[in-house]
Amino acid sequence: MKPLHARYPFLQSAREAVEAADVDLVTVVREEEAVRTRALDRVETALDSGRVGAPHRRDRVELLSYPVARVLVSLIDEHVLTRKYARAEAATAHERFEAEFTETTELKSRDREQLSIRTLLAEFGMTEGVRETDDAYSVAVGTYLAYATEERGDEWRLVNRTLRDGEIELSESELLVLIRQAIRDRVDEGLPLSVPDAIASHLDAECEQIRERLADLDLTRDIDTVVPDLFPPCMTALLDQVQKGEHLEHHSRFAIATFLTTIGMTTDEIVELFQVNPGFGEEATRYQVDHIRGKTSPTEYSPPACSTMQSYGDCVNKDDLCEQISHPLAYYEAKLDDADEEEIIDWRERDETAQS
Ligand code: SF4
Repeated sequence: MKPLHARYPFLQSAREAVEAADVDLVTVVREEEAVRTRALDRVETALDSGRVGAPHRRDRVELLSYPVARVLVSLIDEHVLTRKYARAEAATAHERFEAEFTETTELKSRDREQLSIRTLLAEFGMTEGVRETDDAYSVAVGTYLAYATEERGDEWRLVNRTLRDGEIELSESELLVLIRQAIRDRVDEGLPLSVPDAIASHLDAECEQIRERLADLDLTRDIDTVVPDLFPPCMTALLDQVQKGEHLEHHSRFAIATFLTTIGMTTDEIVELFQVNPGFGEEATRYQVDHIRGKTSPTEYSPPACSTMQSYGDCVNKDDLCEQISHPLAYYEAKLDDADEEEIIDWRERDETAQS
């Protein structure tokens, strides 16, 4: 097991090294406390700081802690944990290879095996889609779309890129962001794993600790955050129609109103938002929103699930995340969980900032 494998345990060669060493995971989790502890540290640090923590001084422990961490994440099997963990592994690897690539030749350790952009591209089957040019990279549009769609920021939108002969030009640091996404996909692949009892039974204490940490973080809190950039495609489309003053069918109006109510908007805020639409009389809208939130009725309504949205024709512009969820709120929660703190600028606070 090489130091390179300990630094980048998601590599195919790292997996092969573990297989070649004939490691029995049952024995590892039963007898190697250092591996269990480092695996737990990987997962907890992922929740706390979005990274996987400082490496263990022994390469074997560091490398084996990766499959054990994936087992822990699988045993908990919470969407938010899986996403945060995969993201943290990818972010840590990204920081490591970015630092390695910028080290000067003198600083590079002579006996440390290094990764190169070329080997990373080959690892993730991206070689064909990426061509090195004089001082940048030309990336085939299919490769770009496969890895850039999760990135936020206007600069990643295809419409803001120059497309030439089916290729997009990227700087080295932008290409490394695409590779980070490929790593995240690799870590996420196959999760949750099906974990045999013989392994799970030795990880009860670690699982308990992670569950407590998850509860402390209160990641499943009620949503009270309005960030339209993170809305599911269906709600973005409905909001767009509202703001253009277009007529909405009753079911569509119900869907967007319940969604906005559930994510924390007050009746006044929703009424104000809808006022631009000639189809919405203020009184009727106020009554409907109060009714939806249970103020003037015994029932507090929730937005419809994806299956209902589909049957009414309100499910539009589906993206990759849509394939993994069954409710627009789950989509929004996943996006919020995934976003960096600084990206979460509440619409209502932004308006206040603009006015001050
Ligand atoms: S799949 Fe669900 S979240 Fe995605 S657009 Fe359709 S209704 Fe909205």
